[in-house]
Amino acid sequence: MTPAAAKVIWVLGCIGWYVIRYPHQRRSRRTPVAWRRDRRRDMVLMVISASGLGVVPALYVATRWFAFADYPFHPPQAWLGVAVLVAALALFYRTHRDLGRAWSVTLEIRAQHRVVTHGVYARLRHPMYAAFWLWAASQALLLPNWIAGFSGLVGFGTLFFGRVGHEERMMLETFGAEYRDYMARTKRVVPGIY
Ligand code: SAH
Repeated sequence: MTPAAAKVIWVLGCIGWYVIRYPHQRRSRRTPVAWRRDRRRDMVLMVISASGLGVVPALYVATRWFAFADYPFHPPQAWLGVAVLVAALALFYRTHRDLGRAWSVTLEIRAQHRVVTHGVYARLRHPMYAAFWLWAASQALLLPNWIAGFSGLVGFGTLFFGRVGHEERMMLETFGAEYRDYMARTKRVVPGIY
């Protein structure tokens, strides 16, 4: 494993992420929306997250702008990054499959919305966000640079902590006891812990 190979793997991860999401994005556009939460706030958080997970590491891969923040490359660290990336993409795929038409980019309630509690949603309320955490961790492991490596964790962390409470409130307001019971038997992103 070389630094160049790790960069290529990071790019392949982005392509894999896009390939998994694309069909759901198309279907999502055709699924009627019943209710939408403050969209502007969501958009700002998404720009921050996309900068950290996409724009900054892409600039690192394509330019020398962040070279001043490089640190020595350790192949075992990058191999661990590959393993975490594969796990992230596998979980990302499964969450899209289980969530189906309930999935949306911003916080929305669909016209025929049901609480999904099966598959990877049986133990975690936010497995898709767990997949994003893993993806951000793989970026930190693959790119040996203090800025481009950690920007994903900072960017996605901002989205996660800025959004997750609003999302749970929206689900509680819409589904009441059904979601409260579901919350009582699940964790947010780490099984059994948080
Ligand atoms: N936070 C979830 C889903 C992310 S997609 C995860 O990380 O896996 C965001 C949309 O999913 C929200 O607009 C909300 O309407 C919907 N959603 C979140 N949890 C859900 C659930 N358990 N069942 C059905 N829809 C859910």
